[in-house]
Amino acid sequence: MALMNNYGERSVTLVKGEGVYVWDKNGKRFLDGLSGIAVCGLGHRHPAVTQAICDQAERLVHVSNLYLVEPQVELAEKLARIANMETVFFSNSGAEANEAALKIARKYGNDKGIKTPHVITAESSFHGRTMATLTATGNDKIKAGFTPLVEGFSHVPYDDIDAIEAAATDQTVAVMIEPVQGEGGVHVPNASYLKALRALCDKHEWLLITDEIQTGNGRTGTYFAFQQAGILPDVVTTAKGLANGMPLGACLARGAAATILQPGTHGSTFGGNPIACAAANATVDTIESDKLCDHAKALGEYFLKTFGEKLANNPHVKDIRGLGLMIGVELTAPCADIVPKAMERGILLNVTAGNTIRLLPPLVMNYEQADSLISAVVELIAER
Ligand SMILES: *Cc1c(COP(=O)(O)O)cnc(C)c1O
Repeated sequence: MALMNNYGERSVTLVKGEGVYVWDKNGKRFLDGLSGIAVCGLGHRHPAVTQAICDQAERLVHVSNLYLVEPQVELAEKLARIANMETVFFSNSGAEANEAALKIARKYGNDKGIKTPHVITAESSFHGRTMATLTATGNDKIKAGFTPLVEGFSHVPYDDIDAIEAAATDQTVAVMIEPVQGEGGVHVPNASYLKALRALCDKHEWLLITDEIQTGNGRTGTYFAFQQAGILPDVVTTAKGLANGMPLGACLARGAAATILQPGTHGSTFGGNPIACAAANATVDTIESDKLCDHAKALGEYFLKTFGEKLANNPHVKDIRGLGLMIGVELTAPCADIVPKAMERGILLNVTAGNTIRLLPPLVMNYEQADSLISAVVELIAER
């Protein structure tokens, strides 16, 4: 095979999807407990998204960001309204949305006369695979072999306000944080963490950047997770679930951060592509009209409650946690072997941080489908 080996061995070829199911080329059906890693929130082949993609493809595919395109303008207004932000920059991916946020932070510092702007991020965070975002990521494994890294980052324990204060210098310009850590193992911080962080950033005039690439787009029970903390960040990034599978990222900003990127400072050839934005408009509209945030909240609570009952006192289970439809079942030992075993049973799920089974089901999953997913996970753990 001519593909680079960076994803390791892949044995299953998926060819078709419908709702919460996908099929491989042999016709085997899988219940999707992962949504393409929090991407297909509306499930596969959602008619509103398919229609939007086809309609836009028949009108206009690409013209460059030298010109306005309607779906991009419409989407920016929608996201700004939902998030209470003022301006939006569109990228193709999460890492690029974070790159934009980090460039905003650096320029914010430089404009204030701070010569070596410094950004604080959390240990076990994940912010992407580009040079700046892998440096921002709080996981040494991801950085190994890629030195020299980008300057100007420090990492502090997650959910620890004092640690941020201790790591700050007179060069600090921003704190970048996931409202719930995804790749790091589904870590939900204390309810007061983001509020305290907001207060600390206000006190020092640092930008608070929430990386909502995974937590955004209804995943945690509100459109953005910061909305549950009762705070407003200065910058919010999102991507994964934004366009239900079309590649699109967004960096949203308000206040001083909203006007930092001026002509010539940043750009992207494909970012905010008309088809991707049309798909996102249909996705956002469907999340709102079908009240999928409320459903994600209720179904997420059902997952946690049912796992709690079925796995109570199970010697293999260390912790069960989550927010909305970001669910982690941490085992006492590494459990990557569960992934192929689940696939044999026709279930797609993921293991992250070595020993945490992670579920990111489509927001449209119903209770019966959730029961099948829960039973499969409970049986896979019982077999250990
Ligand atoms: C997936 C993810 C990213 C990176 O997004 P890409 O689209 O893969 O570049 C960044 N931050 C978080 C929190 C993510 O979950």
